[in-house]
This record gives sequence, structure tokens and C-alpha cells, in this order.
Amino acid sequence: MEKEKKEDCIFCRIARKEIKQEIIEETDNFIAFPDANPRTKGHTLIVSKRHFVNMLDMPASLGNELLDVIKRVAEKRLKEGASGFNVVANNFPVAGQIVMHAHVHVIPRYKKDEFKVREIV
Ligand code: AMP
Ligand code: ZN
Repeated sequence: MEKEKKEDCIFCRIARKEIKQEIIEETDNFIAFPDANPRTKGHTLIVSKRHFVNMLDMPASLGNELLDVIKRVAEKRLKEGASGFNVVANNFPVAGQIVMHAHVHVIPRYKKDEFKVREIV
């Protein structure tokens, strides 16, 4: 797979704060911000600050930090009224990955939302 140049990568640009974006959580290695096309209210992306193409490219040593950010985002959305959440990572285009920079979706769930998890698992 051809690696996208970091300078042109939209998530690298957001991580470098070249693009104005509401930041929901930030740690040394990750940044969380709203998905531009939210599937449910509060849909959030957690993006590595370094340019990894997908989760296979990401060192396992970042796993604890990533889980911590997932939990912080999810707890925030539960406090705001969600009743649950899905964590989704699309890896490689055949799995639906569009932005070739590693990221995780946190999708808050509501009792009567339209999101159909059975379309992805
Ligand atoms: P995927 O690569 O399929 O996991 O999805 C990429 C996600 O990034 C989609 O849900 C898009 O709506 C979202 N997205 C793409 N560009 C931006 C952006 N500039 N700001 C926020 N979200 C974005
Ligand atoms: Zn990138």
C-alpha cells in the first residue's frame, strides 16, 4: 500500500493543529475530535499523532494509552446522555478505511438511534 505523504495527510494536519478543530481529549500520542460526518450524536475519532497507516503499523506499546483515551471519550459521552458506545477501527480499504492514518471511532449509542451495528459486524 502506498503511504500517503504526512504533509498531505488530513489527520496529520489536524494532529499538528494546522486545521482548527474542537479537541475532545489529548494525550502525548493521541488526539480525539468530532467526526465530520457523525453517525450518532457525539461520534468521535481518536487519531494517533504520529502517522501510522493503520493499527498494524501502530506499536503495541501505545495500546494502554489508546484504551485510556477510548474510555475517557466514552465516559464523557455517557455523561452527556448516551446509553452505550461502539468502538470501531477500519483497517485497509476493503474494511472501509478511507483515511489512511490509524484511527478509532467511538460511536455513542442511544436507545432510538439509527446506527446499525450489524452492518459492520
Ligand atoms: P474511515 O477511514 O472509514 O474509518 O473513516 C474516516 C472518518 O473520518 C469518516 O467517518 C469521516 O467522516 C472522518 N473525517 C474525514 N475527514 C475529517 C475531518 N477533516 N475532520 C473530521 N472527521 C473527518
Ligand atoms: Zn497522517
